[in-house]
Amino acid sequence: MRLQSNIVVIATRNEGKVKEFAKLFGAKGYKVRSLADYTDLPEIIESGTTFAENARIKAQIISAHLHVPVLADDSGLCVKALGGEPGVYSARYAGENATDADNNAKLLQALSNAAPVGGMPTDDGHPKLLSEASYVCALTLIDPVANEMIEAEDSCRGYIIGEERGESGFGYDPLFYIPALERTMGELTMEEKNEMSHRAKALRLFLDRLPDQSD
Ligand code: IMP
Repeated sequence: MRLQSNIVVIATRNEGKVKEFAKLFGAKGYKVRSLADYTDLPEIIESGTTFAENARIKAQIISAHLHVPVLADDSGLCVKALGGEPGVYSARYAGENATDADNNAKLLQALSNAAPVGGMPTDDGHPKLLSEASYVCALTLIDPVANEMIEAEDSCRGYIIGEERGESGFGYDPLFYIPALERTMGELTMEEKNEMSHRAKALRLFLDRLPDQSD
């Protein structure tokens, strides 16, 4: 498989994401652009019921508009005791313009009646675990000219705890505890998070499937 060009547009305006992607894609002979490089882009309504569907919707709409390969991602938090919520609604869990603090407060409220997860020590600084949870990330690249699609999805498992710990990361990270590390995602350095996060894992899978353009 070969893509029509060595330029890939990352469907985001987040500079941090663009930098991370540019480095990894550069090693495979690709140049990266982002939505910040274009104007008059079509509006996207993330109407999918899964992360993969939303990533596909974004990649489809933008690649059809720009006629170049586009990579889109969608991610979020799935909490077992809440039947998988907030899922695809993670960014807007507490409302359309919700802040991270609003979403975290709503999550703790929703879990306030949950029975704590048994079998884990709660002494020695271990927090009370409210529910199993996982972060999920789906990635879709669509090349509209070569008519190719590459997809990857992976997750990172942990537990939601009853109080926030740590100031790094973003979103639900201060509530997302990883027992093996005895820390929340909000207590990891950026390097540590970039090693084991759902996004990093999905990206590694994706890059394995991406043809090397410099071959
Ligand atoms: P998006 O896929 O970048 O739009 O992320 C959707 C939402 O999922 C974010 O607004 C966060 O609420 C949540 N989320 C996704 N990835 C992470 C993460 O690495 N840490 C914390 N929250 C995340």
